[in-house]
Amino acid sequence: MSTSHDAVISVIRARLGEVPAVNVVHGRLRQGTGPEVLLENPADGSVLLTYRDAGAEVAAEATTSAAEGARAWQALTASGRGRVLTAVGAAVRASLDDLALVEAASAGKPLRDATAEVTKVAEMFEYYAGWADKQHGEVIPVPTSHLNYTQRVPYGVVLAITPWNAPAFTGGWQVAPALAAGNAIVLKPSELTPITSAMLALLAVDAGLPPGAFNVVAGLGRTTGDALVRDEQVRKVVFVGSPATGRLISVAAAENLKPCVLELGGKSANIVFSDADLRRAVGGAAAAIFSGAGQSCVAGSRLLVQRRAYDELLESFSAFAAGLRVGDPLDERTQIGPVQNRPQLERIDQMVTAAVGAGATLTTGGRGAEGAAEGGFFYRPTVLRDVANSDAIAQQEVFGPVVAAIPFDDEDEAVALANDSAFGLAGAVWTSDVARAHRVAGRLEAGTVWVNSYKTINVMSPFGGFKNSGYGRSSGLDGLLEYSQPRSVWVETAADPTLAFGY
Ligand code: NAD
Repeated sequence: MSTSHDAVISVIRARLGEVPAVNVVHGRLRQGTGPEVLLENPADGSVLLTYRDAGAEVAAEATTSAAEGARAWQALTASGRGRVLTAVGAAVRASLDDLALVEAASAGKPLRDATAEVTKVAEMFEYYAGWADKQHGEVIPVPTSHLNYTQRVPYGVVLAITPWNAPAFTGGWQVAPALAAGNAIVLKPSELTPITSAMLALLAVDAGLPPGAFNVVAGLGRTTGDALVRDEQVRKVVFVGSPATGRLISVAAAENLKPCVLELGGKSANIVFSDADLRRAVGGAAAAIFSGAGQSCVAGSRLLVQRRAYDELLESFSAFAAGLRVGDPLDERTQIGPVQNRPQLERIDQMVTAAVGAGATLTTGGRGAEGAAEGGFFYRPTVLRDVANSDAIAQQEVFGPVVAAIPFDDEDEAVALANDSAFGLAGAVWTSDVARAHRVAGRLEAGTVWVNSYKTINVMSPFGGFKNSGYGRSSGLDGLLEYSQPRSVWVETAADPTLAFGY
């Protein structure tokens, strides 16, 4: 075993105990009571950690603790809550190296990407700390003798369920605004990547968050996750993950009359016009699909290229893809790490094989990586050309480093192809024509659009999907407003009001 592997294990033990626990209930680590879960190291397939799934008992303890945590949290002043969230942001920055190391090792994410994502988690707490004392209602000039005003009221206990591709990032994205709005939160990370979520919750409590305001329940989705969705103390469910699971969760939430936010997958179109700076477009399109080994909801997995630039662009793009450095996520030079888990690796391979069988041409890519550990879950940056937009590889989310390159003739066709998808998460347009850039951006059915750029997201700006990519928003003011609901208060001010029956 490598030195870096030992370093990861010692950080996990130092943070989560000699026999690491990944549930945090009422500010304390708690072993689960459910089945054992084994976590593999994506870089070499070795065992990273085994833990006990929280199970129904610990899940119920966590929601009870959160109900108590919500009361304690709401007892603070709004500006007091802001100060605590600022301290949480500082604590995340102070533990940046440990969090990034563990995130990189367990999610298979290159260390520099993990470091950037954990930095963004700190920014989320800092940004929403500023909102904690700026959420207020309005006075409404109603036509009666009443004073009518509104208040923003937190839900109480919020449940956030997150996926394995960006555990700390997607967790922080929900936890920070939920707390800023005055809720307590139960975070259910993916069973495959629970470690950094537990580390974050402990840091938050040490920074001054009342115990119970941030609990972590780790375990399988269909048992522990489902029990949490149905738990009567949970009043709102925020889910980040696949459309299939999103559908199950929204049904379970609806059966219990709970509102949801769904942040689901995508099949985003990256549109390159022949008048674009093609050198920049090549680099941007490669980052769009290959960063995070393509395990990104916003991955630019459909590369739409204007026909007169198609061959030239595909040639340089394939060469660029082949030159990317794939390898150990803990090696600072690595640009693309492994896929997070073995079943996902198999799924990617099957989808690529099927696409080639259906007529696509593989210009570069495939299983494995030069110089990478034997047992690792590596898949090289893969380019498929001669794809039709109706092909399965252009319609289904691969969630791997695989791009489908599709030609188009003119602007109308580019927009039609981009929108011919069940998804609507993101998209991009590369062109030197400023009028066309805005025109196309305005016609894409997507929650986020980039122009001559890709993948920039920031906590200040709203993020979320159209169509099957989900509903509701994360980040920005829109994300904050998901976590509270208005209450309207009517105060009679007339000296001698007339008694009215009815409205
Ligand atoms: P997934 O849907 O398999 O699992 C996500 C989470 O749901 C996990 O924590 C899992 O344990 C839980 N879960 C599964 N079944 C459940 C059930 N019946 N009840 C309650 N919880 C349940 O997703 P994944 O494979 O971990 O992640 C990949 C997917 O996430 C991709 O589709 C990707 O596009 C999407 N994603 C979306 C965003 C976004 O913001 N739009 C961000 C990242 C990832």
